[in-house]
Amino acid sequence: MKLYSTRDHSITVSFHDALFQGQAADRGLYMPQLFPLIGQDEFKNLAGLDFKELAYTIAQKYLADEISSTGLENIIQQAYHFAPALKQLDDFTFVLELFHGPTLSFKDFGAQFMARAMSYFVQDEHREITILVATSGDTGSAVAHAYHKVEGIRIILLYPSGKVSPLQEKQFTTLGNNILALEIDGTFDDCQSLVKQAFADDNLRKKVKLTSANSINIGRLVPQSFYYFWSVINVFFQLHKDILVCVPSGNFGNLTAGLFGHAMGLPVKKFIAAVNSNNVIPEYFETGEYKPRPSVRTLSNAMDVGNPSNWERIRDLYNNNYNSIKQHIWTTSVNDPVTIETMKQVYEKYHYIIDPHTAVGMRAVERYRDNVPADKFTPAIVLSTAHPGKFQEIVNDALNMDYKLPESLHNVLRKEKQTIKMPGSFKYFRDFLWAI
Ligand SMILES: *Cc1c(COP(=O)(O)O)cnc(C)c1O
Repeated sequence: MKLYSTRDHSITVSFHDALFQGQAADRGLYMPQLFPLIGQDEFKNLAGLDFKELAYTIAQKYLADEISSTGLENIIQQAYHFAPALKQLDDFTFVLELFHGPTLSFKDFGAQFMARAMSYFVQDEHREITILVATSGDTGSAVAHAYHKVEGIRIILLYPSGKVSPLQEKQFTTLGNNILALEIDGTFDDCQSLVKQAFADDNLRKKVKLTSANSINIGRLVPQSFYYFWSVINVFFQLHKDILVCVPSGNFGNLTAGLFGHAMGLPVKKFIAAVNSNNVIPEYFETGEYKPRPSVRTLSNAMDVGNPSNWERIRDLYNNNYNSIKQHIWTTSVNDPVTIETMKQVYEKYHYIIDPHTAVGMRAVERYRDNVPADKFTPAIVLSTAHPGKFQEIVNDALNMDYKLPESLHNVLRKEKQTIKMPGSFKYFRDFLWAI
């Protein structure tokens, strides 16, 4: 697999290098040079496969030149002790449950694969690798669980103090071993900026071997396209129509993975990018201007992003062409009161409990259908990015019920958190990294 930097298409690297560098030296993001195309005939064959077989088939198209078939099979077997599930709510609406992994969010799909892929390559490395992760919640826990006790790799998580849910915090601050959590006095964007500054610091990088595991890492995007294939193919062969796919979005990594799938030939009619009150992208669609700004807090906090890092990839994919972007993607912003109202409506109508992120997605599809009457009956898949149990309080308030935490979350709440508190300025972070 060859990848280029969004800022300079003439520089190409291997998957191995993109995986360990995270970001290109010119601070661009890596993009596949070629999307392997899947033809109509092959789609029919893919329809019968279970999730792991399908994941292997897709992964192999990208990675066969760098990872042996046994290696890839092992990566997939070890990564996926869980699978996505498709729930049909009515004739035209499907929910793709992506929360059956160890930390109950879709991020397990990317993180688990990336951890195993790194551990496959790291066998030849001599120096310990330090992975920096800025997290607004779910990335941290998914990455921490995926890498926990993986030899030769240390994880440093940066998260905004007081701005992630107590449960999310416990999920990544209680593992210990090779997982270190830094509690930053600032916002998620500050955390992300600290990580970016560390990567830009050449002297520091000579001393410490740094890599990233955020959604800017291509090692997470490739596996995230697996479940798009699995779900779209499933629904397509059931209804024989092109499909709408709605993605609750923050940093836009998940959506980017879906667009990769589309570039390989997936029959998706339109992607719906659902965001909360952090509406930089809907504003871009309206005005053509991209104006990043500090994030605001919402109930769907894993999407509280004011400067979505993968937007650069999406622009690159469509040659920075505003009309072309609009042709493939539709977007809308859903605020907190409407999020709660949607959780209620979905429960009343279908007896199905959704978390606030999924609710943003459900409402976005409804709005899209109101806006584009021709697609009123076009089948839609809404990605359900988190288990409702992770947002127990919000669910109980919205639905006026006593929803119980899943057992695995119960256990983690009883554990003691271990963190290092740190101000949001780079000086402290740099000193810390220098000394580890
Ligand atoms: C991370 C996350 C999102 C946003 O995904 P991006 O790839 O950053 O757009 C949405 N929902 C949940 C539950 C998440 O954890």
